[in-house]
Amino acid sequence: NTTQTDINRAQQYVDNVFDTVTKRNPNENEFHQAVREIVDSLVPVLAANPAYMDHGILERMVEPERTISFQVPWVDDQGNVMVNRGFRVQFNSAIGPYKGGLRFHPTVNASIIKFLGFEQIFKNALTSQPIGGGKGGSDFDPKGKSDAEIMRFCQSFMTELSRHIGPDTDVPAGDIGVGPKEIGYMFGQYKKLRGRFEAGALTGKGLPYGGSIGRTEATGYGTVYFMQEMLKDNGLSFEGQTVVVSGSGNVSIYAMEKAAQLGAYVVACSDSNGYIYDPGGIDLQTVRDIKEERKESLAEYVNEHPDAEFGETGSGIWSLPCDIALPCATQNELDETAAKLLSANNVKAVGEGANMPCTLDAVHVFQDNDVLYGPAKAVNAGGVAVSALEMAQNSTRLSWTFEEVDEKLQDIMKTIYQNSVEAAERYGQSGNLAAGANIAGFLKVAGAMVDQGV
Ligand code: GLU
Repeated sequence: NTTQTDINRAQQYVDNVFDTVTKRNPNENEFHQAVREIVDSLVPVLAANPAYMDHGILERMVEPERTISFQVPWVDDQGNVMVNRGFRVQFNSAIGPYKGGLRFHPTVNASIIKFLGFEQIFKNALTSQPIGGGKGGSDFDPKGKSDAEIMRFCQSFMTELSRHIGPDTDVPAGDIGVGPKEIGYMFGQYKKLRGRFEAGALTGKGLPYGGSIGRTEATGYGTVYFMQEMLKDNGLSFEGQTVVVSGSGNVSIYAMEKAAQLGAYVVACSDSNGYIYDPGGIDLQTVRDIKEERKESLAEYVNEHPDAEFGETGSGIWSLPCDIALPCATQNELDETAAKLLSANNVKAVGEGANMPCTLDAVHVFQDNDVLYGPAKAVNAGGVAVSALEMAQNSTRLSWTFEEVDEKLQDIMKTIYQNSVEAAERYGQSGNLAAGANIAGFLKVAGAMVDQGV
């Protein structure tokens, strides 16, 4: 029984916290966006539990425990000296060592890494695994680089990063632009510098040196497992549904594969050049050949599948009619206009496989139109969840089977769904999974922070 006075105080408190964030981190729009979304949904929780305000929990959550920014010098194949920027933001360690991916993409800057790191705190808490929140990366663009250049870059990046990470300190993994190849080069360098085989210092490793089976598929499969729960709860399923999945990277590919296995018609996917629409169903093997082997534009797909169409803007994908939309490319790829198009085409459900792919306005459009909406930190948590399972296998020196990992992943995704639904109900926001996920993640981290003192 919170009073209006409690609510006003909580609202004032989150507004003050947000003000401090914008003043301390000027022009970091993505970070501001992620903070605004989370703190607003916490008002009812703070109103009911003023102790969190008295302990300064939110002020402490929005300020990274440690921010590392460093130079990454390397030499290209022509002998030119190149300099990139490296980042690692160690956001919150209340429930475990910092955990989160590394992103190598030209758009990477402090704002991008902070928004990702902040989201990671709540996502990781939702997985029920003992992992804190962190994120890192570089503005290095792996596109068009030779293997030798990528190796030298990764070695230089790890030369600095190595002093800040470790199995009980901070455990990086992949994100956009960082896959098993990059993780392999970084692990090799970490091992040399340490003089020890510390498998648990990185996740997403290759299977022969401590990787977990099922980690590659985990984010995409987990996305579909989460959406399956949400659809089931609303009397729906993937069977016979038309699905549009943006992106054609690791998340997108395995989301398409699992959705198709569950009987959906996956008709479109995209890359930075545009999207393909194949009404007969996307041929995933062709997409994988183009993107993973040949590293070409998706436009190539229509040469092999003449019935398909290629559209020349990535965001054009949202104008296609579909029952389920899974944005799996990157942040803010789906804006208000796209959300209105999808709603006008009677989309039933939207699930975020990427991190923060929908703008705040887009989310409001879905909520106003009663479109089922699964927020990123819940929907795509399967990747980091299986990373935590990789850490568990590394510390016991065991390796589990695909069936064991996949079963655990399915349980984790179901639990995340249930916990988010219940947290939303408990704080008067029934059906609002975005609020529920934020609240469930917050309560776990906040409880640990209170217990551990200032
Ligand atoms: N980059 C992924 C994410 O956004 C995975 C991180 C990890 O496995 O540590 O959650």
